[in-house]
Amino acid sequence: MSRIIPDLVETPSDWPERVDVVVIGGGIIGVSTALSLIERGVSVALCEKGLIAGEQSSRNWGWVRQMGRDPAELPLSMESLRIWEGMNARVSAETGFRKTGIAYICRNDAELAVHEEWLKHARPLGLDSALVSGPALETLVPGIGQTFKAGIYTASDARAEPFIAVPAMARAAAKKGAHIFTNCAARSVETSGGKVSSVVTEHGEIKCSSVVLAGGAWSRLFAGNMGIDLPILKILGSVARLSSVDGMSDMPVGASDFAFRKRLDGGFTVAQRNANIAAVTPDSFRLFSDYMPSLIKTWRELALRINGEFVRELRIPRRWKPDEMTPFEQVRILDPDPTPKFVNGGVDNLQKALPAFRNARITKIWAGLMDVTPDAVPVISPVASLGGFYLATGFSGHGFGIGPGAGALMADLITGATPAVDPFPFRAQRFARLAKPRA
Ligand SMILES: Cc1cc2nc3c(=O)[nH]c(=O)nc-3n(C[C@H](O)[C@H](O)[C@H](O)COP(=O)(O)OP(=O)(O)OC[C@H]3O[C@@H](n4cnc5c(N)ncnc54)[C@H](O)[C@@H]3O)c2cc1C
Repeated sequence: MSRIIPDLVETPSDWPERVDVVVIGGGIIGVSTALSLIERGVSVALCEKGLIAGEQSSRNWGWVRQMGRDPAELPLSMESLRIWEGMNARVSAETGFRKTGIAYICRNDAELAVHEEWLKHARPLGLDSALVSGPALETLVPGIGQTFKAGIYTASDARAEPFIAVPAMARAAAKKGAHIFTNCAARSVETSGGKVSSVVTEHGEIKCSSVVLAGGAWSRLFAGNMGIDLPILKILGSVARLSSVDGMSDMPVGASDFAFRKRLDGGFTVAQRNANIAAVTPDSFRLFSDYMPSLIKTWRELALRINGEFVRELRIPRRWKPDEMTPFEQVRILDPDPTPKFVNGGVDNLQKALPAFRNARITKIWAGLMDVTPDAVPVISPVASLGGFYLATGFSGHGFGIGPGAGALMADLITGATPAVDPFPFRAQRFARLAKPRA
């Protein structure tokens, strides 16, 4: 069954000798950062080792969600949604953004209690999330029947189309003057006088005064070569596309064991909720103490797997020189195998819950590797130990929705503008490993 291929971005550009900022990584975070910077008159080059949005940013569910976000992330989610609303006009293209609302539906009081607790954080911020039940819930999710007693609904939440949105944003950034290079792996960041001075790529060097590392699942490896110990582990999520179904809600809906979103092409993106795999790798041991508290909280949602990943990662070099071939050139696109048990489980659970889906067929399956920090909140921050070096990574499965806000915040931090939201929850120094001098 075919995998995900994002819209191709072909933006031929001259090689710049110098720019203000080099962005490493062409997912939604790197692309939003480049777009925000170029719009503010800051010269920028973005280097992507494979395709724009080839990894997580084309493989995600496409939920643009404020509901259920960590309280630390809520203001950024709200600001990001505001930016998403103007995105089609901003990039003069279709991104699939639709303000459809999002609902979580609950089978029992215990599930509902989790949402009630979260509402205590959302209400003071003026978010329009509310509990729903009975006929109101049936109107929101037709065919829901008696199984689901109640739910929580946020009318201002939305959806967008991952594999067209990010390429459209990259094309717009290029049109506005950003240099966008694909098939161009960044190998190292060079420094002079304790500050960044250039990025060396497989195709040559670009001098700059700032660098943003937005490398998703690769950020830890890249930073490690620079002596920066970024605590990030990788988690695998598996997804299916179902054929179209009549009379179903336009909005994304999640239950405890399935989630679905109607797509622009009429089909549905479906997954088993709370069913992700963490392969045991050498990093699992190196970072064990950092993740222990969150593992205790989330162990029910996570399946630990001992598989070939341990040996594969053990063989990947952790240090290299700028003139050496790097792991980034060897894997242009991370395209992991989906887990059939979770793909089929999600579809089965959905078909049992909502009879309208009973005749829908699986037409595509895929998987993506998420970059997860110990507190599941991203790092959007300068790094104290190296002047001009910024991190925009560790989006922990939430980066598609908050991507435009994160890119704008990163541009605020680089240009010294007053940030639209408080960057404090995203500071690098909250992790002891990032507060240390470079090794
Ligand atoms: C199955 C799944 C479902 C999800 N669902 C949602 C959802 O519904 N809503 C939501 O908000 N979020 C969701 N997410 C999370 C979201 O997709 C990510 O948080 C977001 O896409 C991260 O964007 P990114 O730019 O940081 O990383 P990525 O999209 O992974 O991009 C990083 C890029 O950096 C490149 N790169 C790395 N190293 C180098 C180098 N040295 N040189 C050049 N390029 C390099 C990579 O090739 C890659 O293209 C989901 C994720 C998955 C996997």
